[in-house]
Amino acid sequence: MKAMVLRKTASLSENKSPLEPADLPIPVPQEKEILIKVAVCGVCHTELDEIEGRTLPPKFPIIPGHQIVGRVEKAGKNANRFKTGGRVGIAWIHSACGECKYCRIGMENLCNEFKATGRDADGGYAEYTTVPEEYAYQIPDVFSDAEAAPLLCAGAIGYRSLRLANLKDGENIGFTGFGASAHLVLKMVKHQYPRAKSFVFSRTKTEQAFAKELGAVWAGNTDETPPEKLHAIIDTTPAWGPVVEALKNLEHGGRLVINAIRKEEADKDALLTLDYTRDLWMEKEVKSVANITRRDVEEFLRMAAEIPIRPEVREYRLEEANTALLELKERKIRGAKVLRIG
Ligand SMILES: [Zn+2]
Ligand SMILES: [Zn+2]
Repeated sequence: MKAMVLRKTASLSENKSPLEPADLPIPVPQEKEILIKVAVCGVCHTELDEIEGRTLPPKFPIIPGHQIVGRVEKAGKNANRFKTGGRVGIAWIHSACGECKYCRIGMENLCNEFKATGRDADGGYAEYTTVPEEYAYQIPDVFSDAEAAPLLCAGAIGYRSLRLANLKDGENIGFTGFGASAHLVLKMVKHQYPRAKSFVFSRTKTEQAFAKELGAVWAGNTDETPPEKLHAIIDTTPAWGPVVEALKNLEHGGRLVINAIRKEEADKDALLTLDYTRDLWMEKEVKSVANITRRDVEEFLRMAAEIPIRPEVREYRLEEANTALLELKERKIRGAKVLRIG
C-alpha cells in the first residue's frame, strides 16, 4: 500500500518534506481489530508536534494521521461490531487499558496506557490502517467523507474543550487562535448557547474575517482588548503570548482552557510578563485539555449531525501531505485540511 511515513523528527523550517512516500505491506487485523480502507484523513496541528519532536512517537518509521474515514475491508478474529464495507471513523484515541482508575470512570483520555492513532500506532496517511473495533465510530450519513474527517479531532476535541470551559448561556466566550477546531466550536456555541457572545483573537486578518462571517461579535489581534470581559476563553495557539493576553481579558472567576497538546518554546519569555493581580487573582482558572474519550467523539458526532456542523474543508492528495502540513504551519489557508486517499 501507499503511505507517507515519518522516519525521524525534523524542523519544518529546515526540512519542507519531513514525510516520505513509502510502499508498505497492508496491515493484518489482529483479534478484535478491523482493517480499514482509508478514504480520507484529516491533517492536524498535532502532526507538526510529532514531526518536530514535541510529542515523540515511540518508534520510527510511523504513519501519522488520526482523523480517518474509510470502509471496513476485513475483520480480525472475534471482531463483529461492523459489517464489511461499512463506513467508520478513527480518532486520536487508538486504545486505552480499560482497567485503570481513569478508564473505569470514563476518563480514558488520562490513562497511562493511552495510545494515540498516528503516534503510538500507525495512522491514516496510508491506503489502509487497523484499529481495535471498540475504538471505531459509525459516521452519520449527513456527512461526506471529507466533511467527517475534521470532525473526528478538531471537532471532537473542540467539543471537549467547550465542555471544560463551563460556559452558561448568555455568557461571553473567547477564542484565541481560530483554526480548524475553534471555527467548529464557534458553530457549537451558537447551537448550545444561543445567547452567548463570541470574541475571537487572531494574528491573521483572514481568520478575523472568517470569525466575523461565522457570527463572532468581535474579532481582533491577540494583544487587543475586547469591549467586554470574557467568562471563558479557549486557546488553540502553539504559543505563550496569547495565554497571558487571554488571562488579562477573563472575567472574575473566569476559566482559560488550553486546547493544545504541546506549546512551542519560542516566546516562552511572555510568561514573565504575567502579573498575578491583573491576570490570575480573582479566582481565575487555567485548565488544559488532554486527549479525547470515545464518549466525546460519539456525543459530538451526534450533535454535529443534528445541527448540522459542516466544516470548511480543503482537499489535498496523499502525496501532497507535506504541502498540507506546511500550509497548516503558516496558517495561510482557512478551515480544515484533508488528504484524499481512496
Ligand atoms: Zn488532531
Ligand atoms: Zn486505563
